[in-house]
Amino acid sequence: MSPLPDLLLHNVGFLVTVSSENPVVHRDVSIVISGSEICDVIPVRTISRVDARVTIDCSGLIAIPGLVNAHHHMYQTCLRGVGALDNLGGWFRSRERFLKHVGPEERFHSVSLAHLELLENGTTCVCEFGSNNRDPESIDSTIEALNDSLLALVLAYAPPPGAAEDLTRIHSTLEASSRLRRLLCIPGPVAPSVHDAPAMKEFSATSEVANTLGVGISTHILESQGDVAGRPVDALRQLGCLNEHTLLAHMVHASDSDIATVAAADAAVVHNPLSNMRLASGVINLPAVRGAGIRVGLGTDGACNDAADMFETMKVAMGLQRATTRDPLSCTPYDALRMATREGAAALGLGTITGSIEAGKRADIVLIDPDSAGFTVVNDPVAQVVLNTTPSEVRHVIAAGEVVKRDFTVVAVDPNEVRRSARDCFREFADRVRPLEREI
Ligand SMILES: [Zn+2]
Repeated sequence: MSPLPDLLLHNVGFLVTVSSENPVVHRDVSIVISGSEICDVIPVRTISRVDARVTIDCSGLIAIPGLVNAHHHMYQTCLRGVGALDNLGGWFRSRERFLKHVGPEERFHSVSLAHLELLENGTTCVCEFGSNNRDPESIDSTIEALNDSLLALVLAYAPPPGAAEDLTRIHSTLEASSRLRRLLCIPGPVAPSVHDAPAMKEFSATSEVANTLGVGISTHILESQGDVAGRPVDALRQLGCLNEHTLLAHMVHASDSDIATVAAADAAVVHNPLSNMRLASGVINLPAVRGAGIRVGLGTDGACNDAADMFETMKVAMGLQRATTRDPLSCTPYDALRMATREGAAALGLGTITGSIEAGKRADIVLIDPDSAGFTVVNDPVAQVVLNTTPSEVRHVIAAGEVVKRDFTVVAVDPNEVRRSARDCFREFADRVRPLEREI
């Protein structure tokens, strides 16, 4: 007699599998989960009864794969609202003034808040870009805050200057975890200019340590118009840093030649539409980038993104393309959903593990309850996942086969305690950072 499945998501109203190029929607199915994996998807009409250790009635709900946030700065959650009038350069300056007051304890609470937010909005896989983790204690506080998390975590780490070997320590720590943990190296927070020999040299030295460990690299590139003259894509190519394990955030101002170079190297790109919009950076040429065959994920960047809400991110990614190209097919709702799930997972090198609802994949699933005033009538579940859904309609979230949000409440952590601790830690935070402005 085979053992009971651990979890049965029974009678799902609409299942959007994101398992192929075109949308596949199943009606009235049950999803069978054992351990951390999806075992089977069964039409309800063909079965009389499936027993499981835990059964959740999903009548009328819409199931989609757990969302993949391919570029986040979780440690910046405590900086929300900062630099609201800034462009990218201004944001860097505003951000640094606040980050001077963010030590390991503040980072722990900031990442804990970010983790809670991700669980609430249905994200089950995240790439944390720790670009300002310039001391070991700060990266340790990030790992500590996520130690018990069920999220699939890709941690991009910038080792302290001259201490690239600290990558080895973090690599060992992540490898020893029983959870899904991967490391990426940040040889520099921004890709170097071909005209800046010292920056090229430092970038190269750190990336060599990453090569030795067999981990990929991640960096920001071509986020603003001012980056174009430095030909950073050429710089990465010259340094041997462009390959299938390279993850590039932004690519807003990429030329046709840049896109062709990245595509030929099979490197991946993360699009951060809300951050680019808020900082007046510009709009990526998504049809050209995806049309070249580049894997593109969606991300929420740092506090300059104002929320880590992947539903909002999908909708804005679609809307910016349509508004700038005046072509509704430049980005369809399914394009946005694919980037936020399957394609984002592939961009992170996790395409065989998560990003779609199929037997054998990690059981990362979001169940949307459309029974809200702004939704209710389901005419096109694929479109409405992007057009109508907000985190408040996320009813259940399953990560690695475990229920982490149930009936609209996160159960994997104590939400009240996470918020209370963060409130205590950041009490009068802005006043500590800006005493002069307050007196004026
Ligand atoms: Zn970023």
